[in-house]
Amino acid sequence: MTVNLLDLDAARLTAFLADNGEKPFRARQVLRWLHRFGQRDFDAMTDIAKSLREKLKALAVVVPPGLLADRVSDDGTRKFLFDVGGGNVIESVFIPELDRGTLCISTQAGCALDCSFCSTGKQGFNRNLTVAEIVGQLWQARQALGACQEQKGQSERVISNVVLMGMGEPLANLDNTVTALRLMLDDHAYGLSRRRVTVSTSGLVPAMDRLRDECAVALAVSLHAPNDRLRDELVPINRKYPLRELLAACLRYLEKAPRDFVTFEYVMLDGVNDTDALARELLALTRDVPCKFNLIPFNPFPGSRYRRSPATRIRRFVELLSDAGVVTTTRKTRGEDIAAACGQLAGQVLDRTQRTGRRSFVLHLDRQEVCT
Ligand code: SAH
Ligand code: SF4
Repeated sequence: MTVNLLDLDAARLTAFLADNGEKPFRARQVLRWLHRFGQRDFDAMTDIAKSLREKLKALAVVVPPGLLADRVSDDGTRKFLFDVGGGNVIESVFIPELDRGTLCISTQAGCALDCSFCSTGKQGFNRNLTVAEIVGQLWQARQALGACQEQKGQSERVISNVVLMGMGEPLANLDNTVTALRLMLDDHAYGLSRRRVTVSTSGLVPAMDRLRDECAVALAVSLHAPNDRLRDELVPINRKYPLRELLAACLRYLEKAPRDFVTFEYVMLDGVNDTDALARELLALTRDVPCKFNLIPFNPFPGSRYRRSPATRIRRFVELLSDAGVVTTTRKTRGEDIAAACGQLAGQVLDRTQRTGRRSFVLHLDRQEVCT
């Protein structure tokens, strides 16, 4: 059986090559060709012995997810759609800014956690993405952005940051996510610092502990409510891992985190979680956790039952948190001419849960807004 080399981090590639009589340094060479230079043609890997190239041709393939569409918004935000087979389409978004370029990637086709304000969740769940499909989004985006020609030592990278905030719950696909993260951090592959790679989770407590122990990158936690009653309604996984346990897991994570704070994401839902009283409750709840807040104006999608909080309400919420000394930012909405917003990433998923009662979705190529 052929191996997809994009599924292998350094340790697995070393083991695969050792099984085939090759020395460990070959793994570093192959990793550089595959990931740093984006090369998938074994014949072009010129510093690799011809005998190894022949072996690789016989035993291995390099297969990223197929790029179906690449749309650029007026402000430079760019959305990639990938075919991951079986009728499933996933999405990544590239957000260029003055001082950084961030790629937002997906970890599952759909999501089983069913948050009430999230389009991905409302689609249901098909399957976990493989390592090659997760890291392959980065591989493909770098090709499309012309980033594979970067010179060693060049300080500004086209993709300087990666956030696992696309479709799916990364910590529900922990093994593949960790292997993909290791590749992102590997100096011979993408060489990103742990501070520049962020995992966003809705709060799978045991998996947060495992991530901390196996590959502690920057952490964002989707909080969205200051008490269990409201959070149970918005983020159903809260019924299993309530706020007290979630915040304790955040403190444990911080012992090994590359940054000395957790980012709490908070979607702003008009009249639901955006009152002054709830902002104060939020401050009391998170008092003992070093944190920053990132408020996300709700992005509507067809059939959603919420409205975005008005700008004045969002400003007031920022003011209450900031005045209490908590650094609070609001996510900008960008690229409204293409469809790629937080929580709107829908691609196409053949739901395997019974939740949606549907077997397929049409591609939403014309929905609005990109949220960064
Ligand atoms: N499953 C992970 C990561 C993917 S979602 C998580 O939930 O954290 C990335 C972020 O988008 C999360 O903070 C999520 O709550 C938020 N989000 C989901 N739906 C949204 C919507 N309709 N509008 C704005 N943000 C949304
Ligand atoms: Fe899944 Fe995150 Fe959407 Fe919740 S917000 S349904 S965890 S992708």
